[in-house]
Amino acid sequence: MSERMAWGRWDCTRCGDTGISGQHKRCPKCGDPREQAELDAMRPPSAEDFARAAIAAPEERSLAESGADWICGFCGTTTRGTESSCSSCGANRQDKVGEGAVGPVAEAPVTPPPQADKPGGGPLGRYWQRATRARKVWTVIGAVVAVIIGVVWWGSLTQEKRGQVTALKWEHTTQLQRWGDVTRGQWGRPSERPEVKPVGARDERAGIAVTSCYQKHHSDESYACGTETYTDTESYSCGTTESCSTVSNGNGSFSQKCSTSPKYCSRNVTKTRTKYCTRPIYREWCDYRTQDWLPANTLKATGEGHELRWESLSATGDLERVQKWGTYRVISGLGEETAAHTLEVTREEYDGYQVGDAMIFTVKNIGGIDSVRRAE
Ligand SMILES: [Zn+2]
Ligand SMILES: [Zn+2]
Repeated sequence: MSERMAWGRWDCTRCGDTGISGQHKRCPKCGDPREQAELDAMRPPSAEDFARAAIAAPEERSLAESGADWICGFCGTTTRGTESSCSSCGANRQDKVGEGAVGPVAEAPVTPPPQADKPGGGPLGRYWQRATRARKVWTVIGAVVAVIIGVVWWGSLTQEKRGQVTALKWEHTTQLQRWGDVTRGQWGRPSERPEVKPVGARDERAGIAVTSCYQKHHSDESYACGTETYTDTESYSCGTTESCSTVSNGNGSFSQKCSTSPKYCSRNVTKTRTKYCTRPIYREWCDYRTQDWLPANTLKATGEGHELRWESLSATGDLERVQKWGTYRVISGLGEETAAHTLEVTREEYDGYQVGDAMIFTVKNIGGIDSVRRAE
């Protein structure tokens, strides 16, 4: 942290002289004492002024370091903070027009002139502008979050609606199956066993006879296979950056405070790391001959309502059998939609339904039908 002082520049409102050095408390041209408004409107020194014209002489230094000027209650002249009487009229610092010693006049609040470029007023205005903008942004974010939470909460609410059964659909499958050889395989060698053929389509046991075993690709594994280089970026210290701020001392001088902070840059570096490769893993795979009931003929019957029937197939001999299975669906409508929901049921449940039966739909505000159940 380094600190430097330099004089600002002010303009005389009486004679119009401009660019007067801040060390003069009177206009050098017309002799008019500097007033508070002229002090407030003072232009701070530039960065170049701080570098070239920093206050160095001991006399100037003590003048710059003597605190803020005070305003004379009688004549309005600004006087050096260390003086106790007015440099123009000789009045005491505490004295005021028409009164005895009442309060320090110099510290009374002074209404700042409405100048946009006036130092001191600008930063405050910008601060407030920024503060209200941040508050606006947070208000908008808060409102959006509240709306999202509200919509999600509302969407998760459910309501019950009354629908009805619009159709009952059944499908019956009849399949003729024949006991026969199939080829299957597995990892590793299965234990072999003889086949027991079915008698009257019952009491059968599939045999296992291995036909071939061989090494087969099972999976890939990763392993360390040396090192490799790669490019990475790293941060390093590359000098310093300086940031400065300027404040008015209230007496025509300004102080510049500068602080330096380390600066960081990034660069590419080459690093090494373990390299990984993949290799295939082989294991023993065995194909074997076995037996199963294999579909030889499949017939389907479909229909609606309660008139159900099966297609018929007949088995001949010990090695054939007929298998049957059915699926049963209750279709419900809600409002205009006649097939809003399909429920798969058992045969017993199916027999208990009639077209027109009342159904209770549980519906989410967002996401549609949650569940459907039969009305009591
Ligand atoms: Zn003047
Ligand atoms: Zn005075």
